[in-house]
Amino acid sequence: ARAELMKMEKMEIVSQMAASISHEIRNPLTVVKGFIQLLQTGRLPRETEERYIRIALEELERAEAIIRDYLTFAKPAPKETEPINVSTQLQKVLQMITPMAHMHSIHVSSSLEDGIVIGNVQYFQQCFLNLLKNSIEAMPNGGTLHVAAENRGASVVITISDNGVGMTKEQVRRFGEPYFSTKEKGTGLGAMVAVKIIEQMGGTWTIESAVQKGTTLTITLPASRVGPPTAEQSAVG
Ligand code: ADP
Ligand code: MG
Repeated sequence: ARAELMKMEKMEIVSQMAASISHEIRNPLTVVKGFIQLLQTGRLPRETEERYIRIALEELERAEAIIRDYLTFAKPAPKETEPINVSTQLQKVLQMITPMAHMHSIHVSSSLEDGIVIGNVQYFQQCFLNLLKNSIEAMPNGGTLHVAAENRGASVVITISDNGVGMTKEQVRRFGEPYFSTKEKGTGLGAMVAVKIIEQMGGTWTIESAVQKGTTLTITLPASRVGPPTAEQSAVG
C-alpha cells in the first residue's frame, strides 16, 4: 500500500509537470499567433512589420527556453523511478555542458564518488542541467565550476560551486520561486524545476553565496538502501 501511494505521488508530479509546461508554453504561443494574424492583414508599415516579426521570434525563443528548462531529456515513455548512479549521471550532464563552459572560458572540474539514489533519471539530469547552466551563466567572464559528489552512507551530498556573480540574500531567498529571474532572457523556471525534482527525491538543498564571489549549492539526497543491481538481476530484468 505504501509503495502504491508513493507511485501515485510520483505519477501526480509527472502529470503536474506536463500541466505546467503546457500552461507555460501557451502564453508565448498566443502572442506569436496574435502578431502573425496582424502581419497577415498585409497593411502594416514596413517598420511595424519588422517589429512584430522580432517580437514573434523572441516569444518563440522564450517557448524554446521554457521547454529546455522542463523537458531536455523527456522521452515518450519515461520509467517512473529507478536506482540512479549519481556519478555516472552527473558525468553525463557535465559532458553536455562542457562545450558551453569552454565557450565562456570556464574551467570545469569534478570529484565524483559513487552513490545510488532513487528517482527518475530524466528528471535527475534535468535538475542538474538547470543548476549547472545557472552556474555557467553566472560566470560570463570565465571562472571555475566545480561539481562534487560525496557518498555519506545514508545520503549522497552533491555540491556545485562557481565563482560567478553570486547572489544577494534576497536572491537566495527567492531561488526556486517561479518567474524569479535576474536575466534579460531568463525564464525563472529552471531553479523551480530543479528544486521540485530535489524535493520529489526526498532531498534538501542549501545555498551559500556572496555577491561577486560566487555560489555554492549543496544538495543532499537520501541514498538508496538497496545497492545497484547485480549482474544477475540485470540479466533477468
Ligand atoms: P533563469 O536562469 O532563467 O534566470 P532560474 O530559475 O534558472 O532562471 O534561476 C533564477 C535566478 O536565480 C537567476 O536569474 C539568478 O538570478 C539566480 N541564480 C541561480 N543560480 C545562480 C548562480 N549559480 N549564481 C548566481 N545567481 C544564480
Ligand atoms: Mg536557469
